[in-house]
Amino acid sequence: MAGLTPVGRFAPTPSGRMHLGNVFAALIAWLSVRSRDGEMVLRMEDLDTQRTSAEFAAILRDDLHWLGLDYDRETPPQSQRSAVYDIYFEQLAQKGLLYPCYCTRSQLHSADAPHLSDGTYVYPGTCRRLTETERAAFGRKPAWRVIVPDRLWTVEDKVQGHYEANLAVDCGDMVVRRADGVYVYQLAVTVDDAEAGVTEVVRGMDLLSSAPRQMYLQELFGFPHPEYAHVPMLLAPDGRRLSKRDRDLDLGVLRSRVSPETLIGTLAYAGGLTDQKTPISAKELAAEFSWDKLKCGSIFLDAGQLL
Ligand code: GLU
Repeated sequence: MAGLTPVGRFAPTPSGRMHLGNVFAALIAWLSVRSRDGEMVLRMEDLDTQRTSAEFAAILRDDLHWLGLDYDRETPPQSQRSAVYDIYFEQLAQKGLLYPCYCTRSQLHSADAPHLSDGTYVYPGTCRRLTETERAAFGRKPAWRVIVPDRLWTVEDKVQGHYEANLAVDCGDMVVRRADGVYVYQLAVTVDDAEAGVTEVVRGMDLLSSAPRQMYLQELFGFPHPEYAHVPMLLAPDGRRLSKRDRDLDLGVLRSRVSPETLIGTLAYAGGLTDQKTPISAKELAAEFSWDKLKCGSIFLDAGQLL
């Protein structure tokens, strides 16, 4: 939609310090928006209240500030939006697209369940045709699944290019609310992005398969589809993915050893955004940002060199 102000977002999970991969994805999301005078929204994805905390959320805000990645507004954290998600859940129920699922974790992960090569399973629809009597006999609260159509979804990703998925083949009917009443990421993120007016979703490549799931929910709720850009993962020289578990690479350690400009300069060079590995601020980088420069394959980074 040419002419409209682009709206991007940071959607971190406050379960620990940012690692380099998170910083890279946040940097690209910010550059895309700020290079076009767009608006940036921050949202804490704290649905998993066991793993997340207000302390980590506060540290995340401070880390973004230190990096020079500012935002215009922060929308309420997901843990406080259950009543809003209820409304959308009810819409799915009204459409006759929901059914209760009583399958246990071990049933879902059993050797008999169909699994894809990446280890994720395809829900075979076990609970879809249960009778009321059969449902009552379980005597416990169910999760709720939305029926997915057997059709192809196409994502024209700004980094990964053309990506197709058929949810019926790739994941089967999707859980939208867990048995403990907590809404799942796919529903929350779809509602939150749309309500915040987000026009582009920039995040790590590991979430590419979520895009068609969210597009399906967008269609059901009558929301426009945002643009998608799934940025490459950062890998250690041995091919290991940099993750939150690499404590030595999180921002807590990095902030005490390097300047934000050195960190951003290193990431920008590794990602193909600059020709030289020189310190640079996020703001300076925004002036020369272009999607064409960004590498699309995995990015190898020897973070030890930074320290
Ligand atoms: N909260 C997710 C994360 O921290 C990101 C979800 C998204 O960007 O859609 O990995």
